[in-house]
Amino acid sequence: MNNLSKASLPTPAPRSSRPEILAEEIIERLTYRIGKDAKVAKPHDWLTATILVIRDRIIDKWMESTRKTYATGAKRVYYLSLEFLIGRLMRDAVSNLGLMEEITSALTSLGVDINVIAGLEADAALGNGGLGRLAACFMESMATVDVPAYGYGIRYVHGLFRQQMADGWQVELPETWLAHGNPWEFERRESAYEIGFGGSVEFVAGHDDTPRYVWKPAERVIAAAFDTPVVGWRGKRVNTLRLWAAQPIDPILLDAFNAGDHIGALRESNKAESLTRVLYPADGTPAGQELRLRQEFFFSSASLQDIIRRHLQQYDDLTSLPDKVAIQLNDTHPSVSVAELMRLLCDVHGFEFDTAWDITRKTFSYTNHTLLPEALESWPVPLFERLLPRHMQIVYAINTKVLIEARKERDFSDVEIRSISMIDETGDRRLRMGNLAFIGSHSINGVSALHTDLMKTTVFADLHKLYPNRINNKTNGITPRRWLMQCNPGLTSLIREAIGDDFMDDAEKLKPLEAFAHDSAFQQKFAAVKRTNKIALSNLVAQRMGIKLDPNAMFDIQIKRIHEYKRQLLNIIETVALYDQIRSHPELDWQPRVKLFAGKAAPSYHNAKLIIKLINDVSRVINNDPSVRGLLKVVFVPNYNVSLAEVMVPAADLSEQISTAGMEASGTGNMKFGLNGALTIGTLDGANVEMLDNVGADNIFIFGLTAEEVANKRNDGHNPRALIEGSRELAQALAAISSGVFSPDDRTRYTALIEGIYAHDWFMVAADFDAYADEQRLVDKVWATPSEWQAKTIFNTARMGWFSSDRTIRQYAKEIWRAG
Ligand SMILES: *Cc1c(COP(=O)(O)O)cnc(C)c1O
Repeated sequence: MNNLSKASLPTPAPRSSRPEILAEEIIERLTYRIGKDAKVAKPHDWLTATILVIRDRIIDKWMESTRKTYATGAKRVYYLSLEFLIGRLMRDAVSNLGLMEEITSALTSLGVDINVIAGLEADAALGNGGLGRLAACFMESMATVDVPAYGYGIRYVHGLFRQQMADGWQVELPETWLAHGNPWEFERRESAYEIGFGGSVEFVAGHDDTPRYVWKPAERVIAAAFDTPVVGWRGKRVNTLRLWAAQPIDPILLDAFNAGDHIGALRESNKAESLTRVLYPADGTPAGQELRLRQEFFFSSASLQDIIRRHLQQYDDLTSLPDKVAIQLNDTHPSVSVAELMRLLCDVHGFEFDTAWDITRKTFSYTNHTLLPEALESWPVPLFERLLPRHMQIVYAINTKVLIEARKERDFSDVEIRSISMIDETGDRRLRMGNLAFIGSHSINGVSALHTDLMKTTVFADLHKLYPNRINNKTNGITPRRWLMQCNPGLTSLIREAIGDDFMDDAEKLKPLEAFAHDSAFQQKFAAVKRTNKIALSNLVAQRMGIKLDPNAMFDIQIKRIHEYKRQLLNIIETVALYDQIRSHPELDWQPRVKLFAGKAAPSYHNAKLIIKLINDVSRVINNDPSVRGLLKVVFVPNYNVSLAEVMVPAADLSEQISTAGMEASGTGNMKFGLNGALTIGTLDGANVEMLDNVGADNIFIFGLTAEEVANKRNDGHNPRALIEGSRELAQALAAISSGVFSPDDRTRYTALIEGIYAHDWFMVAADFDAYADEQRLVDKVWATPSEWQAKTIFNTARMGWFSSDRTIRQYAKEIWRAG
């Protein structure tokens, strides 16, 4: 039963936003919900009480939003993502509700510092990196631009591991974001679904041309929903992030327990709960684990059952699904959904295959996030078949349809047929999830202009030929609420003083700031804000690592997952070369620099972990060498996450976006820095290309091979050894690292790593080194003239508004979802 259409129910009075009332309510929550006397309450208790008070303000708007969607019959958008890298939520919610001053003053009246308790909130890291952060920015933007949307994902008990350093090596520790409870979430016991695995398929009935099958799974678990409200800017709309937790059907096997097997009695329970216990720490490499496939199916099936239930609660039947529902697949992780929707339509709701297929394709759309061959998800056919036998049948049926169409109607060659097939026949047979997602969707988008073009010519060239209207581009974005207004309040105030508040509702209205680029009084204020942010970061580094930084030095920052294609190695090799130069030429006018790094390496990724150790080894040597005279410091800040990014991004003078061209799909870190007035040194890769278009060539430092040149070099043969021998600085830096200058305790630690550059240089570190080093000296030259640097900085902030995720979401809504 639902009462959404009943108008006669009483509604609670709107909650007050007066600080006195807020303070009273905080005390009330502390007393009656947490059961603590204010006199002995701990900071965590204050945090929870405050969140509960804020949450009430959100709930009113949440229900209003849900009612509106229902009443207007608006199309609902479902964003399926295995990752949501949300970070902390309190500041986001308070700021979007417009209650920052009121909450701050309510807490002050209670003797509580909002900054102290805000810093205690757990950083929800239910994702690895950019893909998960994009999902979080999208959730906020969908609420902001008034798209009725639900995010669906997994409620991992342990998010991305906590990174610690032990003697410069990465050590992974479990992350426990739920340790103090999670006051944001609501457990929805009524929204639970059964999810099956394994078993067999039975033919039940039907005619020859309309056979009916039913799947009899051997195992079952329950998917239970936990909802978190997501508040849009100015509290306009509140959407739902629904995360699924696995629970056992039988919490305890009583017979076993009574027979004395107390551990065995909990076997089912433990097995079910282990399904959603941990986030896979994979980034760009397939986890290759059965558990991962189980996670993917678990959350896909739960989400689809939920979507269908909600649709049927409001509409007569599922024929109208594509008109009322758009499902976006964030990468291939949820792409088993295509087969699951087909199963639900055909086997549970009685649709014929062709009708179901039409509904399915019109409902789904898919975002591709990577072209790296090792990151294109595929599953061994025997594993998939054992776990999901009915889905395997459906996949074969779809594949048959598509391949016959390609062969008969389009006359595709054998090679083309092989590449569009969902089954990869080279080596062991594998199911290609990218092809499944592509074939099952009406829209496939890349995440930057360059990446979308490359998609058409590489991985999906043949599918693009078969379905030429499906691929489109939606360049990524970032929410300016979190990545400017909240993380950089100083800059936000300064911009408001200069150009008013319009930019707060439309980031592209930062443009008028251009008029101040050469205004020296404004430049000085802009620089003063940056300096304050650099001092804040210096304090964090001093406190966590005991390293003292000079805020007058240029803060040169590279923070992102550690990966060979992102080329932290290029950066640290150039740092070693610079170190040599500073010592060889003390008479020259060197600009003081601090090189900051942060990022996590996948636990199984040997070279990435070795690069972290190298950065720390180089850091120890350089930071302790008096002949550097404070001109260069190197710092690796441990445990990169959203909260750390919020401190580091506003403090950057220079942003390092130096991936091997053609390998970074978009990047969003690049956008955060540019918006906060850092200048980018970068390659023509991902969204850097569009940043160049937006900020102008004078305001960005572009260097290195283009994607096309990289591809040509790889095809035509690249001779890194000859190149290195021709570049004295590079040769010397490599020799120093390789021979153990930075690793006296283990002289051969980096020999193999460096040998990879000599032998094949797959990531074009040697090929791009000279261009990179030259560009860095140009950066120094501009830095030496502060008025010039400041003007470029202001142009960056003024011209980065296009990279707001509001713009991205509007494009998705209009061109893919036809919603909102
Ligand atoms: C923005 C962000 C990323 C993505 O950074 P890229 O530089 O685009 O790879 C990854 N992790 C966190 C915590 C972020 O905030």
